[in-house]
Amino acid sequence: MFLIALDLDGTVLNNRNEISEENVKAIEYAQQKGIEVVIATGRAYFDAQSILKKVGLSAPVIGTNGSTIHTKEGNCFSQVAMEENVVKELVEWLDQHQYYYEVFTDKEIFTPKNARNLLMEELDKVKHQNPTINTNELKEIAERQFGQEGYVFIENVSDLFSEKHPFLNVLTFSFEKNKLEKFFHKFQSNQYLTIVSSGEYNFEIHSRQTSKGIALENLSYKLGLSLEHAMAIGDSINDLSMFEKVKYSVAMGNANDKIKAVCNMITETNEENGVAKAIYTLSLIHI
Ligand code: CA
Repeated sequence: MFLIALDLDGTVLNNRNEISEENVKAIEYAQQKGIEVVIATGRAYFDAQSILKKVGLSAPVIGTNGSTIHTKEGNCFSQVAMEENVVKELVEWLDQHQYYYEVFTDKEIFTPKNARNLLMEELDKVKHQNPTINTNELKEIAERQFGQEGYVFIENVSDLFSEKHPFLNVLTFSFEKNKLEKFFHKFQSNQYLTIVSSGEYNFEIHSRQTSKGIALENLSYKLGLSLEHAMAIGDSINDLSMFEKVKYSVAMGNANDKIKAVCNMITETNEENGVAKAIYTLSLIHI
C-alpha cells in the first residue's frame, strides 16, 4: 500500500489558506484507491484539523513539524514536548529583543498582545529602508500568519509559565532579514532544539527529538507501511526531513531552488493545484 505525505502551507493550501476543489478531489481519489494520505504540517493539530474539516477531508495529521501525530479518528498517539526551561530561555530572549513570536501548545497558540503591532512597525522600517518594496505583498504574508486558529493573547512572557503546558513549537517571524539571522546565530547550536523554516520570514523551533521525517517514520511503522512506497510533497526547509525518508520527493513549483534541487520531481505551484497534478502523475505510473 502506498502513502502520500502532504505539507499544507504553500503546498495543499493556496495563497488564501484554502484547499481547492481540485486538490480535494485528488486527495479523495487517492484515498479511494487505498492510498494513505497523511498531512504533515508546521501548523498546530487543531488548526490543521479545522482546515480539513471545512472541505470534508479526514487524514492522519503530523502537527507542529512532527511534535504531534494524530490518527484519522483524532487520537493522539505521539507528542514530543520541549523542555520548559529551554522554552523559557528562548522566549525570554525573543521577548527581550522585540521579536514577534508564537508559542504552540496542544490547545492554543500564545502570542504577546503587542506582537502584531511590532510586525507592522517592522514593515514601516523595511519600507523606509527600501521604498520600492511591495508592502502589500508583505502585509498579505503577515495576514496569512494571523489566519491560524487558536490564538490566545498574553500580556507578559511570564503568563506562559503560570500553568503547566506541553510546549510543542515556537515560531518567530520577522520582515528584517538581519534580525532573523541574529536569532539563528544565537540558537542554531542549542543541543535541545531543531530550527527549521516554513517561509522566507520565519523560523520554527521544536525539540531536537522530532521532525516531520521522524514522525512520518513513526506513523508509517504504526500503519504497517513502508516509506519505500511513499511520496512526500512540500515547499520548504521544514519538509527536508521527510524528503530524506521517502522514495519519491516532490517539490512544489513555488518552492525555492534549494528544495527543488533535492527532490526527484517538481510539480506545479500551490496556485495551480500542484498537489492534484502530482497525485495523478503518481497514479499513472504506480497505482
Ligand atoms: Ca509549507
